[in-house]
Amino acid sequence: MKSFYKIFSSGVHPRGMKSLSAETPIEVCPAPKRVYIALNQHIGKPASPVVEAGETVRMGQLIARANGAVSANIFSSVSGKVAEIAPYTDAAGTPSIHIVVDNDGLDTPEKAMAPLESPAPRDIVKRIADAGVVGMGGAGFPAHVKLSPKKQPDVYIINAAECEPYITCDYRLLMEYTEKVVRGAVYLAAAVGVAKVRVGVEANKPRAIDALKKFKAENGLKDLEIVPLKTRYPQGAEKQLIYAITRRRVPSGGLPMDCGVIVSNTHTALSAYLAIREGKPLYERVMTVSGKGIRKPSNLWVRNGTRYGEIAAACGGELGNTAKIVGGGPMMGASQISRDIAVTKTSGSLLFLTKDEFVVAMSSPCINCGKCGRACPMRLMPMYIDSFALAGDYAGSKKYGALECIECGCCSYICPANRYLMQSVKLAKKKIKEMGL
Ligand code: SF4
Ligand code: SF4
Repeated sequence: MKSFYKIFSSGVHPRGMKSLSAETPIEVCPAPKRVYIALNQHIGKPASPVVEAGETVRMGQLIARANGAVSANIFSSVSGKVAEIAPYTDAAGTPSIHIVVDNDGLDTPEKAMAPLESPAPRDIVKRIADAGVVGMGGAGFPAHVKLSPKKQPDVYIINAAECEPYITCDYRLLMEYTEKVVRGAVYLAAAVGVAKVRVGVEANKPRAIDALKKFKAENGLKDLEIVPLKTRYPQGAEKQLIYAITRRRVPSGGLPMDCGVIVSNTHTALSAYLAIREGKPLYERVMTVSGKGIRKPSNLWVRNGTRYGEIAAACGGELGNTAKIVGGGPMMGASQISRDIAVTKTSGSLLFLTKDEFVVAMSSPCINCGKCGRACPMRLMPMYIDSFALAGDYAGSKKYGALECIECGCCSYICPANRYLMQSVKLAKKKIKEMGL
C-alpha cells in the first residue's frame, strides 16, 4: 500500500527521546548577570563590534554590525555595561571574540524598530537583515541572503521536521506560537514572490500538525500546505526534506535555490515575524535542554550569550551523572568541553547525557556488512570513503563522493563495528578542501 506520508530514501530510526521535554511548555530562562555574545554566530564573516568596553548598552541594541554581504547584525540581550571584548571558547571549542556585557538587571529596551504593516518584499528582506535573523536550525546562514536568490524560486518550505532525537523546541513553537510561525513563514515566502508555503512536519508530532491545520482552517489560508512526513532520521536535512516534499533533487554541489526551492526553519519564521511585526531583533531564542543528566528537561527562551552552566541551573541543575554535554542533537551535534560556553542564535538544544545515552565502544575492523551504505541518505559508501581517508588518500575519498556527505551521522550510528565513519568523512572533506583536490 502506498504510504500517506512523504519520505526520502535510506536513513535510520534512532530512539526519539523527545518525551523527556515534548510536553513541557516553553518557559523563560532567567537572564544571567553577564552575557558572552559571540561575533561569529552565523555563516560568513564575524560581525564587527560597534561598541567599546565601558559603554552602556540597552537590551536589543546593535553591538556588532554585519561584516560584508554574508554576515549578520548582533544585538545585546541585556541592558548594562560592556565589560570587555575578548576571546572566549565557543561551541566549536575554539577561541573566538565575544562581547561581554554586565547585566544591570533593568532590561532597559532599545527603541524598537517600527512594526511593518504591509511590507513590500524588499522591506521584508531589509528588516530581516537589520534584525540579524539567521537560519536557526543550526546552519546560521544569514536569512536575508537566502531571500535574495539569483533565480526565481517557486516553492517555499518551512522545515518543521525536527528529526534529531531529544529536540522539541520547534514542536513547542508550532503549538504555542502557531500564528506567529505561520505568518512569519508567509512573509518569508512573500519576500521572494512565492505565494504558497509548505510546512513539513514529521508524523510523530500529531498535535503540532493539528495546531497548524486548525489555524489554517480558522483563517482560510488556502496557500498553506501542511505536509506530514514519515518519521525517519534525517528527514529534516534540507536535501532530504526537499526531495520528500517536491521530488526535486538539489544538484551536486548546489543549493536548494538551484532547484527552485527555499527552505527555512520553524524558529527562523518566528524570528522573521517578530522582526517584521514587533520590531524585535534576534537576541534570544527557544532551545531544548534535555538528557537524563538534567533534573528538569525543558524548553526555554534563552538570551544570547547565556552560559551552559546557567541554563542547567534554570532546569533544576544537573543530577551529577552527566557523562557528555552535547550542543545540538545527538546525531549531528558536537561534544562541548566546558559549561562556560555561551549559547548563540543557532543553539537549538543542549543535552546533558548520561553514559547509558550514547555508545562508547572501541571501533573494530569493517566486516563489510554494507549497512552504512544502505543507511546513507546521500547514497554514498562511507566504508570506502573511510578506508581511503585512513590511508591518507583523500583523492580516493573524493572519488567516492565525500564532498556530498551531509554529516548526518547515519553511517556511524548503524555500523556494528562502531567505526567513526562520519568523523572520517568529515576529515576527508576538510582535507580535500585544504588540499584543493
Ligand atoms: S556518509 Fe555522510 S551523508 Fe552518508 S550517512 Fe555518513 S554522515 Fe550521513
Ligand atoms: S557498517 Fe561498518 S562494518 Fe558494515 S560495511 Fe559499513 S563500515 Fe563496514
